[in-house]
Order: sequence, then structure tokens, then C-alpha cells
Amino acid sequence: MTQLSVDVDNACPDCQGTGYVASAENPSKVVKCACRVKTEALSYLGALYAHSEWAPDRDVTSWVGRDLLFQKCDEATFCRAVKTFLLLHAFGHRLSHRTATSREVVAAFMAPEGRELEEALRAVDLLFLICDKQPRNSQYSPALTSLIGDRRRHQRPTWIHAPQGISDESFAALYGDDFRHFVQTHFSAVPLKSPSQSTCV
Ligand SMILES: [Zn+2]
Repeated sequence: MTQLSVDVDNACPDCQGTGYVASAENPSKVVKCACRVKTEALSYLGALYAHSEWAPDRDVTSWVGRDLLFQKCDEATFCRAVKTFLLLHAFGHRLSHRTATSREVVAAFMAPEGRELEEALRAVDLLFLICDKQPRNSQYSPALTSLIGDRRRHQRPTWIHAPQGISDESFAALYGDDFRHFVQTHFSAVPLKSPSQSTCV
């Protein structure tokens, strides 16, 4: 128990830092204190999403198990969608997740020392892929198509963030027509509430 108490808020008035309290429904049962659940959730989210905004009232059932495209929205909007999905669905299902840029994917695929990362990108339950403006690289299309195709065969969803939009010429110029066609064919675009507000969720 002393090990467990390291992670929790020692000032918590409910559990006095133990992380556990008696269940409200059944006082003879011990359950996790809210402070401990919060600590675990923050650890699960990781530094990238811990401090993002999120939408606790959003219905995310339509996002479960699908390859999704978030385009023409900024990073904060994408992070908000990811955090909302992680907390409302993935956390409870103990799904692993990872965020990578297209450049990191290509680096992992090309370098011998990237083998471990490549395996992790294939195996992780949820992959959040940032396809923003990167230095041009002819390997984007084959590497990303191979990775996402492999993930699809194992029912592992990928979300793509394309801030510039995939119909933009800059996207085709960087990522190639083949990859654009692949995304158009296999990904569902999450509709924007209002393009002028660039709000996805
Ligand atoms: Zn507590």
C-alpha cells in the first residue's frame, strides 16, 4: 500500500492519500478514490493530452473502431477530439494509444534502430497520426499505406490529422496522390461543425 500511495494526492480528504475509499453502495467494499482515478487518467493520457480541453458530454460511439480523418482543423481541436475519445471510451477499455507524425513513421520504417518503434506503431490499439507540413519525402506514401493497411487487417483504428485538408494541393504534393486516394477510400471524415470556426467537436 505504501507504494501505491506515492501516486495519489496525499492531501485528499476522502482517502487521506491511500487512493482507496469505502464504496458508497456497499461500505464493506473498497473502491478507488476519485483522486486515484484522476491520477490514472492523467497518466493514461500522457503529457500531450493531459492539459487539452475535452468534451465530457460528447457521444463518441460513432468513433469507435473506425479510421477517422480530421482535416482543416488546428492542433488544439484535434487534441480535444482525441482526449474526449480517450477518456470516454479508450481509458475504460484499456486501449493502448500512441501519437506520431508522418515523419516519425518514415524514420522508424527506414532506420534499422527504428524496428522497435515500427512494431509499436503496428501493434498499438489506437494510432493518432499527424500529417502536417513536413519536409517532402518520397517514402510517406509507401510507409503510411503499409502501416495503416496492416493496422486495418488487425482491426486497429488510426486517426489522421491533416490540418491543411487532404484535397489541398500541398497535401498531394507532400504525401502523394496514392496516399491521398488511400485516405479518401478508407477514412471517414469527421464533419466540422462550422468551417469558419474550424471546430471538429
Ligand atoms: Zn483520494
